Amino acid sequence: MEEMRLREEICELGRSIFQRGLTHGSTGNISARCAGGWLLTPTGSNLGRLDPASLSKLDWSGRLLSGDTPSKESFLHLAMYQERQRNGAVIHLHATHSVAVSVLEGLDPNDLLPPLTAYYIMRIGRLPLVPYYAPGDAGLAEAVRGYARRHHALLLANHGPVVAGSSLAAAADAIEELEATAKLYLLLQGQRVRPLTPAQLADLKRRYREG
Ligand SMILES: [Zn+2]
Repeated sequence: MEEMRLREEICELGRSIFQRGLTHGSTGNISARCAGGWLLTPTGSNLGRLDPASLSKLDWSGRLLSGDTPSKESFLHLAMYQERQRNGAVIHLHATHSVAVSVLEGLDPNDLLPPLTAYYIMRIGRLPLVPYYAPGDAGLAEAVRGYARRHHALLLANHGPVVAGSSLAAAADAIEELEATAKLYLLLQGQRVRPLTPAQLADLKRRYREG
């Protein structure tokens, strides 16, 4: 019952993401933990037209248990889950503004975007850049694993964001916040910007801990 609901939630979220142009063609993949393993969108699937019954179900070694052949990027999701036991969902998109930031020269690879808004800090925090690897290179899984221990949100160089959350809704909120912030950052290029100050950041941190 719970798994049926999750399957439908993945398809509904995929449709919403696709319709708003947050990923294109057959790019992007969505996953969620379920009883006995995890669900992932199949390879070559368009997020706008997912079928709840044909989602891939995998075990914790990445083996397909049922459904269609999983996304070729399943290793990104598996590495996030293996390193982040408390996270229940992972979303990876080729969202245009985030990809644009991932190819910009001269950013701090440990902290790509400035603290423009409180929501960015609350939902993303610090965003590291994972070095570029060609599609299918096993090195990418290991690199992602290394970052995933400390970060729920990563930006793959010349590729796109990967974000984990406690639930599908939380992961979606976070990756959408990242895409919106990347868009803001690009809009503000060449203009004088007033990011949050260290005192404002410290205050946010304090409120969090209390909240
Ligand atoms: Zn990708």
